[in-house]
Amino acid sequence: MSQYRAVKGTKDIFPGEIASWKHIEKVIHRVADLYGFQEVRTPVFEYTELFQRSIGETTDIVGKEMFTFRPEERGQSITLRPEMTAGVMRAYIQGGLAASAPVHKLYYIAELFRKERPQAGRQRQFSQFGAELIGSSSPEAVAEVIGMMMQVFADLGVAGLKLRVNSLGDLDDRKHYIKALREYLEPYSAGFDDVTKERLGKNPLRILDSKDLDIQEVVAGAPKLRDYISVSAVDEFERVLRYLDEKGVAYVIDPLLVRGLDYYCHTAFEVISPELGAQDAIGGGGRYDGLAKQLGSKADIPAVGFAVGMERLLITMEKQGLLEHLEPEGPQVYIVLQDPRLVGEAVGICDALRKSGIKSLMDLAGRSMRAQMREANKIGAAYALFIGQSEMQSQVFGLKNLKTSEQESLSVRDIIGKLKPGRGM
Ligand code: AMP
Repeated sequence: MSQYRAVKGTKDIFPGEIASWKHIEKVIHRVADLYGFQEVRTPVFEYTELFQRSIGETTDIVGKEMFTFRPEERGQSITLRPEMTAGVMRAYIQGGLAASAPVHKLYYIAELFRKERPQAGRQRQFSQFGAELIGSSSPEAVAEVIGMMMQVFADLGVAGLKLRVNSLGDLDDRKHYIKALREYLEPYSAGFDDVTKERLGKNPLRILDSKDLDIQEVVAGAPKLRDYISVSAVDEFERVLRYLDEKGVAYVIDPLLVRGLDYYCHTAFEVISPELGAQDAIGGGGRYDGLAKQLGSKADIPAVGFAVGMERLLITMEKQGLLEHLEPEGPQVYIVLQDPRLVGEAVGICDALRKSGIKSLMDLAGRSMRAQMREANKIGAAYALFIGQSEMQSQVFGLKNLKTSEQESLSVRDIIGKLKPGRGM
């Protein structure tokens, strides 16, 4: 019989890798808390329409990458979430969060699903951590979101990341620019491939970051977005940059950086990792003041957010040797059974230790005493506790410190007293 395999583009995360994930998650939770962001969890699937409305029909994600299904024959179409912003904004509006405070700072660590061609750093199920700061139109909010993201990288020790920033102007500026860009590109369109032709019709901004060299040449002569940005938008962008300077966040202004989605405006940003090869974006985000109205909110709700790919962050950290020291913590006590007939007593003692909050393990494979000792050392146990006939009779047990090889003889009560959490151990 052939073995079952994980679905193409998905990965199992085994215990050996969990320490790395937990380490990163811990830093994310800590930094998010420092900045006053609160965790939000939304459903893994949403009505398909939500993503069509928010991400936009012309994007690759909605066009061809969504896992969509219809649970009931005549029911509404549902999609496994390909990103988090839409779901978080939907929840924010549905939950009436605006009524409780003018500004909400939300963050998440979540699994996402996109039907992409799997390759290094690109999976069909992957995870992102991200944040959405909803309700503030101030440039401080943008700098704060970027600053939080960069502090996560810094606290994880990641080096060599490049932050690219750009201003897309306000929603009107964008409209004017798109018109000018389309007029400039149209005469070249006969030489474009089908995808670029389609983008020209529906979303020409996306042609700007094309990887095709011929198209890049055409783009080099295109009207510049910065020439279409209003004075107030320039002023706003400059304030964002000044606050980034204040925070000591390094950046490069990249006039060709656009985010493809319709609702983005003002500041957009992207972080590039030097360790990733072709898929070199580790995260990105920007201001998306237009989204809430698109999702049915009566009022305009300004918002800014980012998302960072956890797998790409892990790849980057691994290449920089930042995950090597992260071994899972061994038990405090490993019970070494000298006489197999005493296994019942060993079970009882192990249980008493655990109920006192002391992480304890015992052999479950009927191994010899030597093999048990080897195991205790291998998994990094702090102490070995020996159980044999004479120990049971005297109720005094050998407790060996596996680092120093010092050995004491103690009752179970004294062992608990010595090792119990909060007793200076
Ligand atoms: P996006 O939502 O497309 O802006 O992506 C934000 C970040 O998520 C990217 O910079 C990547 O780090 C990560 N990401 C996006 N798509 C994938 C994928 N298919 N597999 C792994 N990571 C991804």
